[in-house]
Amino acid sequence: MKTKDIKAYGTKAADAPLHSINIDRREPTPHDVEIEILYCGICHSDLHAVRNEWGGTIYPIVPGHEIVGRVTKVGGHVTKFKPGDLAAVGCIVDSCRECEYCKEGLEQFCEPGNTIVFGSPDKHLGGQTYGGFSENIVVDENYVLHVPEKLDLASAAPLLCAGITTYSPLKHWNAGPGKKVGIIGIGGLGHLAIKIARAMGAYVVVFSTSLSKAEDAKRLGADEVVLSTDAEQMKQQSKLDMILDTVSAKHNVNTYLHLLKVDGTLVLVGLPADQLPVGAFSLITGRKSFAGSNIGGIAETQEMLNFCAEHNITADIELINIQQINEAFDRLEKGDVHYRFVIDMASLKNN
Ligand code: NAP
Ligand code: ZN
Ligand code: ZN
Repeated sequence: MKTKDIKAYGTKAADAPLHSINIDRREPTPHDVEIEILYCGICHSDLHAVRNEWGGTIYPIVPGHEIVGRVTKVGGHVTKFKPGDLAAVGCIVDSCRECEYCKEGLEQFCEPGNTIVFGSPDKHLGGQTYGGFSENIVVDENYVLHVPEKLDLASAAPLLCAGITTYSPLKHWNAGPGKKVGIIGIGGLGHLAIKIARAMGAYVVVFSTSLSKAEDAKRLGADEVVLSTDAEQMKQQSKLDMILDTVSAKHNVNTYLHLLKVDGTLVLVGLPADQLPVGAFSLITGRKSFAGSNIGGIAETQEMLNFCAEHNITADIELINIQQINEAFDRLEKGDVHYRFVIDMASLKNN
């Protein structure tokens, strides 16, 4: 198979900084779209993976799964894209297309296993897939999204993971008019969850450990803000129908289960490496559910992008050059970002 040598950023070890490396990309096959990457968001999952916090990371790793760019080439059988079109890629770049979940548009739960944009076996080239901290990417057209023209490209990039990961459970658990929805953590996922839940018509209560972010939450669309480190504020909180938990580190979920109404659901999307113990009494009192959700399917990702265009939703971003990536990872570790780092991939040309 014909390949092209391209520039990327990655690392060879959990404790080594990211640096410039070269990787191979396949030339587009008949069903592929080649995309020049213009912007790529930095998700906390990139950080967990680079530092091997979940275990199982294979090095070298090239992270990045919030990708927007412009189509540069298409294979002979591609019908949905042409050179010059805007295009986006999220976490999923392939799946079996035949299992009951793929047929339902739930490619995130593909039974034999889907192909994730980085760190999955590469069916075309062998080795593993490499993500969006790179010059370009080649993906089957069925896993490429259209970016509505109306969206600012740089601040739309985080929708490809943070957007769909919050949109999907908010929709699934019926966040909308008459529903009181809690969002825990005002990071990349959390700040978009506030905007999306508000646009769906829900009443939004935000829980944050950061005083400065809590003060900013109303601007993002929160109806109420609770400083979760303040026991008095937590005690006075009225009951919620659903809580979306976006916290990236160990925390006590029982505290939040107690804030649910009867039949309420706490949905985990945050992926701390540590276990989160749940007390039996936290669940049985009030017939509560403790649930989880993982990104979203391809059709739902397109639906989310269209929803965000309709409601003028994009991320609040700090635009950086790729050369600032290690500093950005250190700040993300501390929760010090307002509210998503996005890399201007043009800066890769300077390496
Ligand atoms: P992020 O920008 O770092 O936001 C995480 C937020 O969690 C922080 O801003 C902070 O909010 C809060 N937080 C951090 N440490 C905390 C602690 N010790 N106790 C309480 N709160 C704490 O991360 P992100 O990119 O939004 O990702 C969030 C999590 O979701 C990560 O674990 C990521 O891997 C995971 N994720 C899951 C999926 C999925 O499909 N399920 C998809 C994408 C990401 P405050 O400062 O407001 O307290
Ligand atoms: Zn992500
Ligand atoms: Zn499948």
